[in-house]
Amino acid sequence: MTHNIQKDALLAVMNQAHDRFKADTGGRNADYIPFLANVPSQLFGIAACLPDGEVVAVGDTDYRFGIESVSKVPTAILAMEQYSAGEVLDRIGADATGLPFNSIMAILLENDHPSTPLVNAGAISACSMIKPTGDADKKWKAITDFIEGLCGSKVEVIDELYKSESDTNFNNRSIAWLLKNYNRIYDDPEMSLDLYTRQCSIGITARQLAIMAGTISFGGMNPTTGKQVFKSHLTPHIASLMATVGFYENTGDWLFTTGVPAKSGVGGGIMGVVPGVVGIAAFAPPLDKAGNSVKAQKALKYIAAQLGLNIFAPAETTVPKAAKA
Ligand code: GLU
Repeated sequence: MTHNIQKDALLAVMNQAHDRFKADTGGRNADYIPFLANVPSQLFGIAACLPDGEVVAVGDTDYRFGIESVSKVPTAILAMEQYSAGEVLDRIGADATGLPFNSIMAILLENDHPSTPLVNAGAISACSMIKPTGDADKKWKAITDFIEGLCGSKVEVIDELYKSESDTNFNNRSIAWLLKNYNRIYDDPEMSLDLYTRQCSIGITARQLAIMAGTISFGGMNPTTGKQVFKSHLTPHIASLMATVGFYENTGDWLFTTGVPAKSGVGGGIMGVVPGVVGIAAFAPPLDKAGNSVKAQKALKYIAAQLGLNIFAPAETTVPKAAKA
């Protein structure tokens, strides 16, 4: 993609999306993690980050919500940065299983066949790979430092969410031990599970998520801090992982309609990357049956169509509608 987006056109389209979908009452907050059930359902924010570091924001973009599965993206990049993309491909893989994100069946069926760092099994495996192995505190610091580098500001765990997840993550505990059984975990399983649970409990704002998306879109260069956070050749690898499995079982539908690699989380956040063009994020807690935020999906779909963000489209059809109008 080569086209530039003008800030004013972007803001106008984001405002339209917010106006159109703010009254939408579809979906329900995630309730299998008790903390998430109680987040105010009407919150709705959209933010985007441009190559010059300008961040455009509409609605509730400073509310800290649970990053949840979106955290799988930075840890996957960090594992690739610390080892190599090839090693992550060998040890974890890049294939969607076609089964739910937290499926134990997928591990049993494909025990000799890796999956992807963007589902629970692969994410726990990625946490186990993070260096320095054997040292939980240093591994956690490596993960949080990396996330802070990506979004250019501090992040903290939401303690209540962490407790809520830790008290109820029996399925993930089974995943961690099953992976151990198949030699697909590379550090202590309980420690790897705890790192995964903690990273999912990080509080993040839509504004921070947009900057993270921007840093990924712009080849690892955080446009708000000017720092190179990871090697630029990793952007296509992480974008392809997001495109493959970012929306749980609805990933194909999402990619087919938008052409934007994105990752959602059950906290209601979605982060989309359009390499070289824009990083974009939206947040609204109520989810559809697959676990994706209803309003955030609608908003991003609308914005992507209006601005011609489909990465698969030939150049002519990517001319932004808003620019033509
Ligand atoms: N911590 C959640 C879990 O492992 C994350 C789920 C998600 O956002 O997909 O179930």
